[in-house]
Amino acid sequence: MKNNREKAPVIGISATLLTIESGCFQGCERTTVIHDYIQAVSLAGGAPIVLPIIEGESQIEQQMSLVDGLLLSGGFDVSPLFYDEEPQKGLEAICFDRDVYEMQLIEIAKRSRKPIFGICRGLQLLNVALGGTLYQDIHLYLASALQHNQKAKVNEAVHHVHLIQETKLQEIFEEEVIVTNSFHHQAIKDLAPNLTVNAYSIDGIIEGIEGKEDDHFILAVQWHPELMINKHPTMLKLFHAFVEAAQRSRK
Ligand code: MN
Repeated sequence: MKNNREKAPVIGISATLLTIESGCFQGCERTTVIHDYIQAVSLAGGAPIVLPIIEGESQIEQQMSLVDGLLLSGGFDVSPLFYDEEPQKGLEAICFDRDVYEMQLIEIAKRSRKPIFGICRGLQLLNVALGGTLYQDIHLYLASALQHNQKAKVNEAVHHVHLIQETKLQEIFEEEVIVTNSFHHQAIKDLAPNLTVNAYSIDGIIEGIEGKEDDHFILAVQWHPELMINKHPTMLKLFHAFVEAAQRSRK
């Protein structure tokens, strides 16, 4: 932080539920967040907290009142019911309760102008929450699509991403082309109103989006920058931009 006396902005990271597969708690669900998100936020000067999936409007409001910025983490496919489609072959695991919960987080963040940063599923969910749609499986629609579900290690960059001029994302990287990892089989089909595309891969897949309003930081990327930081430290720039926006937005 530039000013040590300034309190670090609190970043709420949305969690997921995983079923424990063996041992005495077999069958129980566990709230989890991959630790790289937590490390990336704290490296960028934020104070991360984990937001477990709950129900109840007033409790969710209370959770969000504690944070200065919302990080939507990766994970399950978004239920296609939220964009008026039936499930198609190629759809993978979904978690309806998580979709509902995170859409409420987005709604509150929008209303209170708290910065939102979405990663992978976070980008997809944000697009759906704001009125867009998804390809349930890229290869069902686009035979010529790149391999977006890499077999290489998580910190390896595997494909190029072309950044659009005069976008927040391009301002953050100050590059025209970057290389990213890629762990997605879904992608944005119809973009939600009030969002702008800021990055594409060469096959035309949307790799980044942002909000159109200057006074509300909304940014999302289709890749996983948090997993790349050790090998590609430039990816930390995304977290810096987000944490700084959270710092600015606090009252
Ligand atoms: Mn990709």
